[in-house]
Amino acid sequence: MTRPAASADCIFCKIVRGEIPAKTLHQDGDVLAFHDIRPVAPVHFLIIPTAHIASLYECEPGDAAMLGKMLALAPRLAREQGATDGFRIIVNTGRVGRQEVYHLHIHVIGGPAVLGPMIVRG
Ligand code: 5GP
Ligand code: ZN
Repeated sequence: MTRPAASADCIFCKIVRGEIPAKTLHQDGDVLAFHDIRPVAPVHFLIIPTAHIASLYECEPGDAAMLGKMLALAPRLAREQGATDGFRIIVNTGRVGRQEVYHLHIHVIGGPAVLGPMIVRG
């Protein structure tokens, strides 16, 4: 699938381009990690592809290397940030997943305290 490399109005593309500041934890040609601006736990950062991909819904098997790179980066960065005994990955996807920023991102959320339940059972 061909995609535009960037979206002019996308807030995370603006972070990739340095037009909006962010507290960066890691950057290479494929992925960028930075602290979430409204953390829900002591450790809360985001890992995004530097290319604009709206959501996980748009991903295909050809994206496996990029997705694997994002996921494989999480443990080292989580440890470095102080999540020494585990963490949680969340990928909100689409309307039902309550995604707010339509540039693919994984949330990495951690303690030190144990997190709340993943989802409240109705
Ligand atoms: P979503 O609901 O789409 O999974 O989460 C989007 C996340 O992006 C939210 O946790 C929100 O706090 C974060 N966020 C939104 N705008 C910015 C920003 O300009 N800078 C940073 N660092 N995080 C942002
Ligand atoms: Zn984008």
